[in-house]
Amino acid sequence: MAPNSSMTAETGVLQETDDQEVTIKHDCNAKLPPREYKLVWRNIILYIYLHVSALYGLYAIFASANWRTALFGLALVNLGNLGITAGVHRLWAHRSYKAKFPLRAFLVFLQTLAFQGSVIEWARDHRVHHKYSETDADPHNAKRGLFYSHVGWLLTKKHPEVFAKGKGIDYSDLTEDSLLKFQHKHYVYLMVFTSFFLPTFLPCYLWGETFLNAFFINMLRYCCGLNITWLVNSAAHFFGDKPYDRFINPVENKHVSFLALGEGWHNYHHTFPWDYKTSEYGYRLNPTAIFINCMAYIGQAYDLKSVSTEMIKKRVKRTGDGTHELWGWGDKDQSSDEQTEAVISHKRRD
Ligand SMILES: [Zn+2]
Ligand SMILES: [Zn+2]
Repeated sequence: MAPNSSMTAETGVLQETDDQEVTIKHDCNAKLPPREYKLVWRNIILYIYLHVSALYGLYAIFASANWRTALFGLALVNLGNLGITAGVHRLWAHRSYKAKFPLRAFLVFLQTLAFQGSVIEWARDHRVHHKYSETDADPHNAKRGLFYSHVGWLLTKKHPEVFAKGKGIDYSDLTEDSLLKFQHKHYVYLMVFTSFFLPTFLPCYLWGETFLNAFFINMLRYCCGLNITWLVNSAAHFFGDKPYDRFINPVENKHVSFLALGEGWHNYHHTFPWDYKTSEYGYRLNPTAIFINCMAYIGQAYDLKSVSTEMIKKRVKRTGDGTHELWGWGDKDQSSDEQTEAVISHKRRD
Protein backbone atom coordinates (compact mmCIF):
# COMPACT_ATOMS: atom_id res chain seq x y z
CA MET A 1 0.00 0.00 0.00
CA ALA A 2 1.26 3.43 -0.82
CA PRO A 3 2.60 5.32 2.17
CA ASN A 4 0.17 8.14 1.46
CA SER A 5 -2.80 5.94 0.79
CA SER A 6 -5.16 8.39 2.47
CA MET A 7 -4.21 11.05 -0.06
CA THR A 8 -4.59 8.81 -3.07
CA ALA A 9 -8.05 7.89 -1.84
CA GLU A 10 -8.93 11.56 -1.62
CA THR A 11 -7.99 12.37 -5.19
CA GLY A 12 -8.31 8.97 -6.80
CA VAL A 13 -5.24 9.83 -8.82
CA LEU A 14 -3.24 6.70 -8.37
CA GLN A 15 -5.98 4.14 -7.84
CA GLU A 16 -7.95 4.82 -10.95
CA THR A 17 -10.03 1.94 -12.23
CA ASP A 18 -12.98 1.93 -14.58
CA ASP A 19 -15.71 1.61 -12.03
CA GLN A 20 -14.09 2.94 -8.92
CA GLU A 21 -15.93 5.62 -6.99
CA VAL A 22 -13.80 7.70 -4.69
CA THR A 23 -14.87 9.99 -1.93
CA ILE A 24 -13.48 13.38 -2.80
CA LYS A 25 -12.37 15.26 0.28
CA HIS A 26 -9.32 16.97 -1.16
CA ASP A 27 -9.66 20.75 -1.05
CA CYS A 28 -7.15 22.22 -3.46
CA ASN A 29 -7.72 25.69 -2.02
CA ALA A 30 -6.98 24.68 1.56
CA LYS A 31 -4.32 26.88 3.17
CA LEU A 32 -1.09 25.37 4.48
CA PRO A 33 0.29 26.32 7.89
CA PRO A 34 2.79 29.21 7.82
CA ARG A 35 6.37 28.16 7.22
CA GLU A 36 9.77 29.56 8.06
CA TYR A 37 12.11 29.49 5.07
CA LYS A 38 15.82 28.86 5.59
CA LEU A 39 17.68 30.44 2.68
CA VAL A 40 20.53 28.59 0.96
CA TRP A 41 22.80 31.50 0.02
CA ARG A 42 25.14 29.39 -2.09
CA ASN A 43 22.27 28.50 -4.43
CA ILE A 44 20.91 32.04 -4.44
CA ILE A 45 24.29 33.41 -5.56
CA LEU A 46 24.76 30.67 -8.18
CA TYR A 47 21.30 31.18 -9.70
CA ILE A 48 21.76 34.97 -9.77
CA TYR A 49 25.10 34.46 -11.51
CA LEU A 50 23.47 32.04 -13.98
CA HIS A 51 20.69 34.48 -14.88
CA VAL A 52 23.06 37.45 -15.25
CA SER A 53 25.35 35.32 -17.44
CA ALA A 54 22.33 34.28 -19.51
CA LEU A 55 21.46 37.95 -20.06
CA TYR A 56 25.01 38.57 -21.27
CA GLY A 57 24.65 35.51 -23.56
CA LEU A 58 21.50 37.08 -25.01
CA TYR A 59 23.36 40.34 -25.58
CA ALA A 60 26.24 38.43 -27.23
CA ILE A 61 23.84 36.79 -29.71
CA PHE A 62 22.86 40.22 -31.06
CA ALA A 63 26.19 41.95 -30.54
CA SER A 64 28.95 39.69 -31.77
CA ALA A 65 28.15 35.96 -31.92
CA ASN A 66 28.04 33.78 -35.00
CA TRP A 67 24.42 32.90 -35.86
CA ARG A 68 25.43 29.23 -35.80
CA THR A 69 26.19 29.51 -32.08
CA ALA A 70 22.66 30.80 -31.39
CA LEU A 71 21.07 28.02 -33.44
CA PHE A 72 23.31 25.46 -31.78
CA GLY A 73 22.20 26.75 -28.34
CA LEU A 74 18.53 26.53 -29.35
CA ALA A 75 19.03 22.93 -30.53
CA LEU A 76 20.76 22.06 -27.26
CA VAL A 77 17.92 23.56 -25.16
CA ASN A 78 15.50 21.20 -26.88
CA LEU A 79 17.82 18.19 -26.82
CA GLY A 80 18.47 18.67 -23.10
CA ASN A 81 14.74 19.05 -22.52
CA LEU A 82 14.10 15.84 -24.47
CA GLY A 83 16.47 14.09 -22.04
CA ILE A 84 14.24 15.44 -19.26
CA THR A 85 10.84 14.73 -20.84
CA ALA A 86 11.36 11.45 -22.72
CA GLY A 87 14.14 10.30 -20.42
CA VAL A 88 14.10 11.01 -16.72
CA HIS A 89 10.41 12.00 -16.63
CA ARG A 90 8.43 9.57 -18.77
CA LEU A 91 10.88 6.64 -18.91
CA TRP A 92 12.51 6.59 -15.47
CA ALA A 93 10.31 8.54 -13.03
CA HIS A 94 7.00 7.15 -14.32
CA ARG A 95 8.06 3.97 -16.14
CA SER A 96 5.42 4.75 -18.75
CA TYR A 97 7.35 2.86 -21.42
CA LYS A 98 10.48 0.74 -21.73
CA ALA A 99 13.59 1.36 -23.82
CA LYS A 100 16.51 -0.66 -25.16
CA PHE A 101 20.07 0.14 -24.15
CA PRO A 102 21.01 2.43 -27.08
CA LEU A 103 17.99 4.68 -26.45
CA ARG A 104 18.55 4.64 -22.68
CA ALA A 105 22.21 5.61 -23.15
CA PHE A 106 21.22 8.41 -25.55
CA LEU A 107 18.63 9.72 -23.07
CA VAL A 108 21.11 9.62 -20.18
CA PHE A 109 23.50 11.67 -22.34
CA LEU A 110 20.78 14.24 -23.09
CA GLN A 111 19.62 14.33 -19.47
CA THR A 112 23.22 15.02 -18.39
CA LEU A 113 23.34 17.86 -20.93
CA ALA A 114 20.30 19.43 -19.18
CA PHE A 115 22.22 19.49 -15.84
CA GLN A 116 19.32 19.03 -13.43
CA GLY A 117 20.89 16.40 -11.18
CA SER A 118 21.37 12.70 -11.88
CA VAL A 119 18.50 10.59 -13.21
CA ILE A 120 18.26 8.82 -9.85
CA GLU A 121 17.90 12.08 -7.87
CA TRP A 122 15.56 13.73 -10.36
CA ALA A 123 13.24 10.73 -10.71
CA ARG A 124 13.17 10.12 -6.94
CA ASP A 125 12.16 13.75 -6.26
CA HIS A 126 9.59 13.60 -9.03
CA ARG A 127 7.97 10.48 -7.61
CA VAL A 128 7.68 12.34 -4.30
CA HIS A 129 6.13 15.30 -6.16
CA HIS A 130 3.39 13.07 -7.58
CA LYS A 131 2.73 10.99 -4.48
CA TYR A 132 2.46 14.00 -2.16
CA SER A 133 1.50 16.66 -4.67
CA GLU A 134 0.81 20.07 -3.13
CA THR A 135 1.55 19.11 0.44
CA ASP A 136 4.69 20.05 2.36
CA ALA A 137 6.18 16.71 1.35
CA ASP A 138 6.09 17.86 -2.30
CA PRO A 139 9.60 19.29 -3.03
CA HIS A 140 8.13 22.17 -5.09
CA ASN A 141 4.77 22.46 -3.41
CA ALA A 142 2.73 24.86 -5.57
CA LYS A 143 0.56 25.81 -2.59
CA ARG A 144 3.57 27.80 -1.35
CA GLY A 145 3.17 30.11 -4.33
CA LEU A 146 4.17 30.55 -7.94
CA PHE A 147 7.72 31.72 -7.18
CA TYR A 148 8.33 28.95 -4.66
CA SER A 149 7.19 26.22 -7.07
CA HIS A 150 9.24 27.75 -9.90
CA VAL A 151 12.63 28.30 -8.28
CA GLY A 152 12.11 29.25 -4.61
CA TRP A 153 12.22 25.60 -3.57
CA LEU A 154 15.83 25.44 -4.82
CA LEU A 155 16.81 28.54 -2.86
CA THR A 156 15.60 27.28 0.52
CA LYS A 157 16.21 24.25 2.70
CA LYS A 158 13.81 21.39 1.99
CA HIS A 159 10.80 21.08 4.27
CA PRO A 160 11.40 18.22 6.78
CA GLU A 161 8.29 16.49 5.38
CA VAL A 162 10.07 16.06 2.02
CA PHE A 163 12.74 13.95 3.76
CA ALA A 164 10.27 12.14 6.00
CA LYS A 165 7.82 11.14 3.26
CA GLY A 166 10.56 10.76 0.64
CA LYS A 167 12.01 7.87 2.63
CA GLY A 168 8.88 5.84 1.86
CA ILE A 169 9.28 6.17 -1.90
CA ASP A 170 10.58 3.08 -3.64
CA TYR A 171 13.15 3.87 -6.32
CA SER A 172 15.17 0.67 -6.11
CA ASP A 173 14.49 0.06 -9.83
CA LEU A 174 16.65 3.15 -10.48
CA THR A 175 19.42 2.49 -7.98
CA GLU A 176 19.82 -1.07 -9.30
CA ASP A 177 20.14 0.04 -12.93
CA SER A 178 23.83 -0.13 -13.87
CA LEU A 179 23.63 2.67 -16.45
CA LEU A 180 21.95 5.01 -13.95
CA LYS A 181 24.36 3.97 -11.21
CA PHE A 182 27.26 4.85 -13.50
CA GLN A 183 25.79 8.28 -14.28
CA HIS A 184 25.07 8.96 -10.60
CA LYS A 185 28.56 7.92 -9.46
CA HIS A 186 30.43 9.99 -12.06
CA TYR A 187 27.84 12.74 -12.35
CA VAL A 188 30.09 15.75 -11.74
CA TYR A 189 32.63 14.77 -14.42
CA LEU A 190 29.98 13.70 -16.93
CA MET A 191 27.98 16.88 -16.34
CA VAL A 192 30.96 19.25 -16.68
CA PHE A 193 32.02 17.49 -19.91
CA THR A 194 28.52 17.23 -21.45
CA SER A 195 26.83 20.38 -20.22
CA PHE A 196 29.75 22.85 -20.24
CA PHE A 197 32.84 21.59 -22.09
CA LEU A 198 31.19 20.22 -25.25
CA PRO A 199 28.71 23.09 -25.83
CA THR A 200 31.54 25.62 -25.38
CA PHE A 201 34.26 23.75 -27.27
CA LEU A 202 32.25 22.74 -30.35
CA PRO A 203 31.28 26.28 -31.55
CA CYS A 204 34.91 27.43 -31.04
CA TYR A 205 36.32 24.42 -32.89
CA LEU A 206 33.73 24.08 -35.67
CA TRP A 207 33.08 27.68 -36.74
CA GLY A 208 35.63 29.74 -34.85
CA GLU A 209 33.34 31.25 -32.22
CA THR A 210 35.10 33.18 -29.43
CA PHE A 211 35.40 31.40 -26.09
CA LEU A 212 33.42 34.10 -24.24
CA ASN A 213 30.53 34.06 -26.71
CA ALA A 214 30.36 30.25 -26.69
CA PHE A 215 30.53 30.16 -22.88
CA PHE A 216 27.85 32.76 -22.20
CA ILE A 217 25.48 31.54 -24.92
CA ASN A 218 25.76 28.11 -23.33
CA MET A 219 24.85 29.72 -19.99
CA LEU A 220 21.79 31.16 -21.72
CA ARG A 221 21.01 27.71 -23.12
CA TYR A 222 21.25 26.15 -19.67
CA CYS A 223 19.19 28.90 -18.05
CA CYS A 224 16.40 28.56 -20.65
CA GLY A 225 16.33 24.77 -20.23
CA LEU A 226 15.99 25.12 -16.45
CA ASN A 227 13.25 27.73 -16.61
CA ILE A 228 11.26 25.67 -19.10
CA THR A 229 11.35 22.65 -16.77
CA TRP A 230 10.47 24.88 -13.80
CA LEU A 231 7.42 26.21 -15.67
CA VAL A 232 5.94 22.71 -15.53
CA ASN A 233 6.15 22.89 -11.72
CA SER A 234 4.89 26.48 -11.52
CA ALA A 235 2.69 27.70 -14.41
CA ALA A 236 1.27 24.23 -15.13
CA HIS A 237 0.08 24.12 -11.51
CA PHE A 238 -1.64 27.54 -11.75
CA PHE A 239 -2.91 28.72 -15.14
CA GLY A 240 -5.31 26.57 -17.13
CA ASP A 241 -8.29 24.24 -17.10
CA LYS A 242 -8.87 21.01 -15.21
CA PRO A 243 -10.86 18.80 -17.58
CA TYR A 244 -9.79 15.55 -15.93
CA ASP A 245 -9.72 16.31 -12.20
CA ARG A 246 -10.96 19.58 -10.75
CA PHE A 247 -9.95 18.49 -7.25
CA ILE A 248 -6.23 18.87 -7.93
CA ASN A 249 -4.27 22.00 -8.83
CA PRO A 250 -2.29 20.89 -11.92
CA VAL A 251 -3.83 22.29 -15.13
CA GLU A 252 -3.73 21.95 -18.90
CA ASN A 253 -1.45 24.71 -20.23
CA LYS A 254 -0.67 24.84 -23.94
CA HIS A 255 2.03 27.49 -23.61
CA VAL A 256 4.02 25.29 -21.24
CA SER A 257 3.43 22.34 -23.56
CA PHE A 258 4.80 24.35 -26.48
CA LEU A 259 8.00 25.20 -24.61
CA ALA A 260 8.42 21.93 -22.73
CA LEU A 261 7.88 19.51 -25.61
CA GLY A 262 4.43 18.38 -24.45
CA GLU A 263 4.72 18.47 -20.66
CA GLY A 264 2.11 21.18 -20.04
CA TRP A 265 -0.89 18.83 -20.17
CA HIS A 266 -0.47 18.60 -16.46
CA ASN A 267 -4.02 18.01 -15.20
CA TYR A 268 -4.11 14.87 -17.33
CA HIS A 269 -0.59 13.93 -16.29
CA HIS A 270 -1.31 14.13 -12.56
CA THR A 271 -4.53 12.16 -13.13
CA PHE A 272 -2.89 9.41 -15.20
CA PRO A 273 0.88 9.68 -14.50
CA TRP A 274 1.69 6.38 -16.18
CA ASP A 275 0.57 7.42 -19.69
CA TYR A 276 3.66 7.82 -21.91
CA LYS A 277 1.99 10.73 -23.74
CA THR A 278 1.46 12.73 -20.47
CA SER A 279 -1.66 13.84 -22.31
CA GLU A 280 -4.82 12.40 -23.79
CA TYR A 281 -3.42 13.29 -27.19
CA GLY A 282 -0.10 12.12 -28.54
CA TYR A 283 0.12 14.54 -31.44
CA ARG A 284 -1.10 17.91 -30.09
CA LEU A 285 1.88 20.05 -28.97
CA ASN A 286 3.59 16.87 -27.84
CA PRO A 287 6.94 16.35 -29.62
CA THR A 288 8.05 14.02 -26.83
CA ALA A 289 5.21 11.58 -27.55
CA ILE A 290 6.04 11.79 -31.27
CA PHE A 291 9.70 11.07 -30.46
CA ILE A 292 8.73 8.03 -28.34
CA ASN A 293 6.42 6.81 -31.13
CA CYS A 294 9.31 7.10 -33.62
CA MET A 295 11.58 5.20 -31.24
CA ALA A 296 8.89 2.52 -30.91
CA TYR A 297 8.69 2.34 -34.71
CA ILE A 298 12.40 1.49 -34.97
CA GLY A 299 12.14 -0.91 -32.02
CA GLN A 300 14.04 1.15 -29.43
CA ALA A 301 10.99 1.94 -27.26
CA TYR A 302 8.40 -0.64 -26.31
CA ASP A 303 5.54 -1.40 -23.88
CA LEU A 304 4.13 2.11 -24.28
CA LYS A 305 1.36 2.53 -21.70
CA SER A 306 -1.66 4.74 -22.28
CA VAL A 307 -5.16 5.17 -20.91
CA SER A 308 -8.20 3.82 -22.76
CA THR A 309 -10.72 6.32 -24.12
CA GLU A 310 -13.40 4.69 -21.98
CA MET A 311 -11.41 5.19 -18.79
CA ILE A 312 -10.73 8.82 -19.69
CA LYS A 313 -14.43 9.43 -20.41
CA LYS A 314 -15.45 8.02 -17.04
CA ARG A 315 -12.88 10.11 -15.25
CA VAL A 316 -13.84 13.30 -17.10
CA LYS A 317 -17.48 12.72 -16.20
CA ARG A 318 -16.75 12.00 -12.57
CA THR A 319 -14.14 14.60 -11.64
CA GLY A 320 -13.64 16.94 -14.63
CA ASP A 321 -14.40 20.68 -14.40
CA GLY A 322 -16.50 20.64 -17.57
CA THR A 323 -13.81 22.07 -19.86
CA HIS A 324 -13.00 18.78 -21.56
CA GLU A 325 -13.67 18.75 -25.27
CA LEU A 326 -16.71 16.72 -26.24
CA TRP A 327 -15.89 13.07 -26.57
CA GLY A 328 -18.85 12.63 -28.91
CA TRP A 329 -22.66 12.57 -29.05
CA GLY A 330 -24.29 12.74 -25.64
CA ASP A 331 -21.32 14.18 -23.76
CA LYS A 332 -22.64 15.94 -20.68
CA ASP A 333 -21.09 19.16 -21.93
CA GLN A 334 -22.74 19.03 -25.33
CA SER A 335 -25.14 21.97 -25.65
CA SER A 336 -28.85 21.38 -26.19
CA ASP A 337 -28.68 23.65 -29.28
CA GLU A 338 -26.07 21.40 -30.83
CA GLN A 339 -28.25 18.37 -30.14
CA THR A 340 -31.49 19.84 -31.50
CA GLU A 341 -29.92 21.43 -34.57
CA ALA A 342 -27.72 18.50 -35.55
CA VAL A 343 -28.49 16.88 -38.90
CA ILE A 344 -29.36 13.24 -38.36
CA SER A 345 -29.89 11.46 -41.65
CA HIS A 346 -30.95 7.97 -42.61
CA LYS A 347 -33.37 7.60 -39.69
CA ARG A 348 -34.53 4.12 -38.84
CA ARG A 349 -37.81 3.38 -40.58
CA ASP A 350 -39.48 0.53 -38.64
ZN1 LIG B 1 3.28 18.53 -11.26
ZN1 LIG C 1 5.38 13.53 -13.78
